[in-house]
Amino acid sequence: MGLLDDLDRGLLDLVFPRDCAVTQLPMDDGELLHLSPAGCAALPRILDPRCLTCGHPFDGWLEGERSCPHCMELHPAFNRAVCPFQAKGPVRRILHRIKYERAPYLADDLVAVAAQDEPFRRHLAGSILVPVPLHADKAWSRGYNQSERLAERLTHLIPGCTVSLLIEKHKPTESQTRLDRTRRLRNVGKAFRMKAGLSVDPDQRYVVIDDVLTTGATLHACAQVLRAAGATAVDAAALAHG
Ligand SMILES: [Zn+2]
Repeated sequence: MGLLDDLDRGLLDLVFPRDCAVTQLPMDDGELLHLSPAGCAALPRILDPRCLTCGHPFDGWLEGERSCPHCMELHPAFNRAVCPFQAKGPVRRILHRIKYERAPYLADDLVAVAAQDEPFRRHLAGSILVPVPLHADKAWSRGYNQSERLAERLTHLIPGCTVSLLIEKHKPTESQTRLDRTRRLRNVGKAFRMKAGLSVDPDQRYVVIDDVLTTGATLHACAQVLRAAGATAVDAAALAHG
């Protein structure tokens, strides 16, 4: 279904000129299909200083020890998460369209911009990306897994990056959107497991990857699965934090 949507989009482009997903102005011919230079510039980035665990930006320069309200109580099973964008404004709208409005093709442009972010690039280089899986029912109804799509795109853009679908979601969970941190952790706690017959290589570094990091509960749950299977170096990443 995802491929069909992409093909539809391609045919529509012939009839209706494409607009930038951010500025809504007509696109000129360029490398990206759905993001103009002005649109890219308007995407809210995460710059240093940022939390060294979950990647949330520390706005402004704070003296002394910083504590991050986003991961203070999480004690994540991943070492470090890095995200290039803040999940607000145009980034939030694009991610919503990717996930809920059958626009997976928008992920390709967002990934292309993300892959130019130096800290994100360094974080992923040489790693095995493990996309957060969807439950089979959700994957069937959506027609694609946005995390898989963005991971696969990243392997073309980041040196030494590969993707491995090691984890499955065997229990459907209620949407995390309205849950607080404690309930999110409980909600996803036992929802993931290693796929039968697959294993990890303890000498490799794995990066669990998702579209958005909110509390980190989902990435934490997947990182726990990899660690329980014997992975020693487990990090996390998402396109956006917030
Ligand atoms: Zn943090």
